[in-house]
Amino acid sequence: MTLTVAIIGRPNVGKSTLFNRLAGRRLAIVHDLPGVTRDIREAPASLAGVPFRLLDTAGLEDASDDSLPGRMRRQTEAALAGCDVALMLIDARAGVTPLDAQFADLLRKGPTPVILVANKCEGNAGRPGLYESYSMGLGDPVPVSAEHGEGLGDLFDALRPHF
Ligand code: GDP
Ligand code: MG
Repeated sequence: MTLTVAIIGRPNVGKSTLFNRLAGRRLAIVHDLPGVTRDIREAPASLAGVPFRLLDTAGLEDASDDSLPGRMRRQTEAALAGCDVALMLIDARAGVTPLDAQFADLLRKGPTPVILVANKCEGNAGRPGLYESYSMGLGDPVPVSAEHGEGLGDLFDALRPHF
């Protein structure tokens, strides 16, 4: 049976960019403005030649404050319920925000296995955020750059036990 992997996290951390890179085609809209992509998107994806099913959570446009609005929580919970493993993305350049911490709380309470992914780690600008993310209680972060395609081998290694 094909593994289903969901990409979750607050707006603008790079979920859709990672989705597009792993899906290998432009099925999700990627835009600087939050709220362009609204629904959970699904596409066949692969890493190191291993196929899986990928979900992208979007529709998180109300998240400009530090609360976890109902729409975002509902969508995240729907994605978690429909996946085998979740990739929890943070923006390492922004560090761990209060909203990231709320996602971590939600994830630590649930049964879904989580891989913490520190995105935007190309160059050195993500280094402090990467180290900070060890404190989220979600295990060791995997540094990647969705935009530049870096760290995907390590991401595969983290996913490998779930296949
Ligand atoms: P989403 O809201 O979580 O789906 O985030 P998007 O995929 O729409 O990306 C939000 C912004 O982050 C866009 O401007 C992307 O170009 C940018 N972004 C995504 N991945 C990376 C990355 O690896 N490095 C950098 N520097 N920017 C990225
Ligand atoms: Mg998106």
